[in-house]
Amino acid sequence: MPAYKRILIKLSGEALMGDDQFGINRATMVRMVREVHEVTQLGCEVAVVIGGGNIFRGVAGGSVGMDRATADYMGMLATVMNSLALADTMRQEGMTARVMSAIAIDQVVEPYVRPKALQYLEEGKVVVFAAGTGNPFFTTDTAAALRGAEIGAEIVLKATKVDGVYTADPKKDPAATRYTNISFDEAITKNLQVMDATAFALCRDQKLPIKVFSIFKSGALKRVVLGEDEGTLVHV
Ligand code: UDP
Repeated sequence: MPAYKRILIKLSGEALMGDDQFGINRATMVRMVREVHEVTQLGCEVAVVIGGGNIFRGVAGGSVGMDRATADYMGMLATVMNSLALADTMRQEGMTARVMSAIAIDQVVEPYVRPKALQYLEEGKVVVFAAGTGNPFFTTDTAAALRGAEIGAEIVLKATKVDGVYTADPKKDPAATRYTNISFDEAITKNLQVMDATAFALCRDQKLPIKVFSIFKSGALKRVVLGEDEGTLVHV
């Protein structure tokens, strides 16, 4: 039995790169989609927010000197590309997925309409939210918190490269240990980076717990959804 009826998974764009320098690594994406498939088969309703950092990041690289808002719109368009690729891979894996965009690109994907998203979820379809929040100066972490709250997800699952929140950077400090549970307040006091500040504040206000886990650890997503000890739970 899944511990949650409805979840929102935040995948970073960079997670799609695998060992490549940029773009989408097909084998990595297929592997991720299979992990998501497993949890849908448990009967859990799944929404996904995907980042765009593997293609474009608004505040770095190619955007030097560029107007910030323009660069951010490019970043949002990158998330649309990732969403299309993800949903198509889901289709190839026998799942039913729908992409909904926060910015209007009607010939490409349907616009985000909350009741429609809720209907898809109830029908057991995976909903991929593209184009972040639709606004510059935000991130897809914030989109994950926002959409998670809007669709009444019980938890936001933040898929990262590391398998949770640690007392210190585990790459630099071998004595670092993983928190199993931590409150929002404690994470702030200890200055631990869980999600970006806007996303974190939104989840905290809405009492929407966050689970940080590794998408590169086989079966971790399923264990999270089954409520097993995996990753770090950030709670009220
Ligand atoms: N972005 C934005 N508004 C949003 C979401 C994303 O402007 O609501 C832009 C921003 O430029 C960001 C880029 O899209 O750098 C890619 O998103 P993000 O950095 O969150 O992707 P990730 O790090 O998860 O791959």
